[in-house]
Amino acid sequence: MSEALPDFKLIRPTSLDEALNALTAQPNTRLCAGGTDLIVNMRRGLETPDVLVDLGAISDLKTITMDDKGLRIGAGVTLRDLAGHAGIAGAFSAITQAANAIAGPNHREVATLGGNLCLDTRCQYYNQSHWWRKSNDFCLKYRGDICHVAPNGNRCRAAFSGDLAPALIVFGAKVEIAGPDGVRSCDLADLYREDGADHLTLTKDEIVIAVQIPPTDAASAYDKIRVRGAVDFPLAGVAVACRTDASGARHFALAVTGTNSMPLRVDMPDPLGKDDDPDSYFKALEKLVQKAVSPQRTSTIAPHYRRLSASALSARLARALI
Ligand SMILES: Cc1cc2nc3c(=O)[nH]c(=O)nc-3n(C[C@H](O)[C@H](O)[C@H](O)COP(=O)(O)OP(=O)(O)OC[C@H]3O[C@@H](n4cnc5c(N)ncnc54)[C@H](O)[C@@H]3O)c2cc1C
Ligand code: SF4
Repeated sequence: MSEALPDFKLIRPTSLDEALNALTAQPNTRLCAGGTDLIVNMRRGLETPDVLVDLGAISDLKTITMDDKGLRIGAGVTLRDLAGHAGIAGAFSAITQAANAIAGPNHREVATLGGNLCLDTRCQYYNQSHWWRKSNDFCLKYRGDICHVAPNGNRCRAAFSGDLAPALIVFGAKVEIAGPDGVRSCDLADLYREDGADHLTLTKDEIVIAVQIPPTDAASAYDKIRVRGAVDFPLAGVAVACRTDASGARHFALAVTGTNSMPLRVDMPDPLGKDDDPDSYFKALEKLVQKAVSPQRTSTIAPHYRRLSASALSARLARALI
């Protein structure tokens, strides 16, 4: 099979209602935002939609509002606009750092928040050409019978590798989702489940429309370990937020991407008190992250290395925030 794009019908609605109707009007219809993940997968024969609903002409999805109620980012906001928003850079640094760490500048011109949150999971046995996968008898995620990563298991372990989700989760983000019955909202962390072949809790007729974050005075940071220094998915990506209370104690929130089939919110130890020993606190934090993540052989880099990287990066980022 060549890597040419298969034929499909393109619909470009200008309102959310039109998009919701188009999504259910015909079977085998998919949403497309920037297309930087979906179109690549279509060329590889991993996705074969008959109809694409392009969200790019819906202006309501492209707004950012920041006021005393907090921050609301539309799903259609591009990563370039997100990374360039001065207010977000000032109050939510982890979001700006994560947006800037995604792909390259050309991708970020068109890639969106919604597409990044709904990005497919990745695996070295899956993100390959059709002929490569066919010669390996495909795999459990698509067309095959066994998982080459965990042959004795019965579920796909492909890794969720979106950079933005952890940087939003540490602020307690909620996601707004539109569907045929109206708009619902849930914790962003609950948009995901630990199944590489079906990692989103969205139904086929739903559209992510925005993310909301309550006001915060927490300091924050995001960083990732990757094979190449530029334009590369995270082997492990970590976001940390740190709030100081009136007694001077530090409360941390921490989330990790790239190691599991979903972004992971890691439960933190008690706050770091003013008189506590930071060295033992961050050692304990490192251990906690090591235990929480479960990287698999989904990339050429050893899972153990990714586990240690995630925990070392977590401690490094958290320490820099005190
Ligand atoms: C060379 C290269 C490097 C990359 N590096 C990174 C990286 O370092 N980090 C990273 O996170 N990503 C990376 N990506 C993947 C991708 O570019 C980004 O994740 C991007 O943010 C995807 O957004 P998009 O708008 O282009 O999504 P699309 O490709 O348009 O969509 C992705 C998925 O989300 C669904 N979708 C889109 N919008 C919505 C919505 N509003 N509601 C529900 N579902 C929706 C689509 O149906 C599709 O399944 C890379 C891609 C390439 C090609
Ligand atoms: S983890 Fe297993 S089932 Fe999932 S994509 Fe990789 S090889 Fe396929």
